[in-house]
Amino acid sequence: MNESNKASTEFVQIPLCEPELRGREWEYVKECLDENWLTAGGPMLDRFQGMVAEFVGANHGVAASSGTAALHIALLVAGVQPDDEVLVSTLTFIAPTNAVRYVGAWPVFIDSELGQWQMDHECVQDFLEEQCETRGGETFNRATGRRVSAVLPVHILGHPCDMDPIVEVARRYGLKVIEDATESLGAKYKGEMAGHLGDIACFSFNGNKLITTAGGGMIVTDDAEWARRAGFLINQAKDDPIEYVHSEIGYNYRLSSLQAAVGCAQMESIDEYVQKKREIARRYQESLAGIAGLESMEEASWADSAFWMFTVLVDPDGYGMDSRQLLRELDEAGIQTRPLWQPGHQSRAHAGSPSQINGTADEIHQKALSLPCSVGLGRSQQDRVLRALASLAGRPGPAGS
Ligand SMILES: *Cc1c(COP(=O)(O)O)cnc(C)c1O
Repeated sequence: MNESNKASTEFVQIPLCEPELRGREWEYVKECLDENWLTAGGPMLDRFQGMVAEFVGANHGVAASSGTAALHIALLVAGVQPDDEVLVSTLTFIAPTNAVRYVGAWPVFIDSELGQWQMDHECVQDFLEEQCETRGGETFNRATGRRVSAVLPVHILGHPCDMDPIVEVARRYGLKVIEDATESLGAKYKGEMAGHLGDIACFSFNGNKLITTAGGGMIVTDDAEWARRAGFLINQAKDDPIEYVHSEIGYNYRLSSLQAAVGCAQMESIDEYVQKKREIARRYQESLAGIAGLESMEEASWADSAFWMFTVLVDPDGYGMDSRQLLRELDEAGIQTRPLWQPGHQSRAHAGSPSQINGTADEIHQKALSLPCSVGLGRSQQDRVLRALASLAGRPGPAGS
């Protein structure tokens, strides 16, 4: 597009999801710099850990350098061993699956359910009942001979998984439950916060998440010993605060005080941010209900979604073009959208992993498109997105694409 187009308001790009920084971020970062609190030291880290834990209702919070680092440590703390298998949602950003490999374990990809696109507890149950056997209180995959030690449900897009049946079957088979709640800070399942539904949970404060520290993560758990161990592993597994003595291999996964300062300020606004996300989602849902071929994810009766992302399924027959064509058309109109992630069982990086797949995640992946949904997305920008979606409906896409 040319410069004059760029200058006109209609061509100001609407980004998919931008951070919202209008609280005390600057003030708290300045306090860190003035007081010389950079990596360790000072109250910001403890404060941030306490704020997140309290928000979630967990006893302990342990900050990490990223959500992926938090997942790596959570798997170690939960006792997942090399050559174990971990049941993980197939429809997710790849981070939790990679974290399973970091500990030397293997993912077992579990398909999505159609309602909210989350880990399908029936697939979890089918895999354990049909593919596994239990010996001495432990569960083994009959085909691979490997121990199955944990289930890692990912609450995608701000909506929780249906956790009661997942936790129930996990308990029955002796599996630990590690929640990837990185996309669902502020979501509730039957009134309980996502991140307080299993044994241990992880959050991310990457730039596109509900709140951000520029990059960062958090482990939350009620287990004091697990929290202590997580803090130990994140800080190079130091056995002695003065002598450099190590009995185990640790990691440098610390979050800096500067980042924690940003996090403290962000946490002060979290209720308002969740509220804003829910308002945007409600408005989109109401307006899109009238457009044939577009279907948005319904909130389950037992859930309060944080609507981190607002994602629609595009039915090419009903709408007139498929999700990828729509992505290109909206991009032309200055509206950024994104498909969901390639399902894990299709990933070349994890080829050959076991799976329990029925085609649901593949179908969602074909059709899904996430719409602009920044906390600061104003009504006029929402209207622009909605007008574009209405005017493109029933229209053939560009020739040859
Ligand atoms: C963002 C995200 C992560 C990882 O977070 P980082 O902080 O970017 O490492 C993990 N899992 C899911 C599902 C995510 O969306």
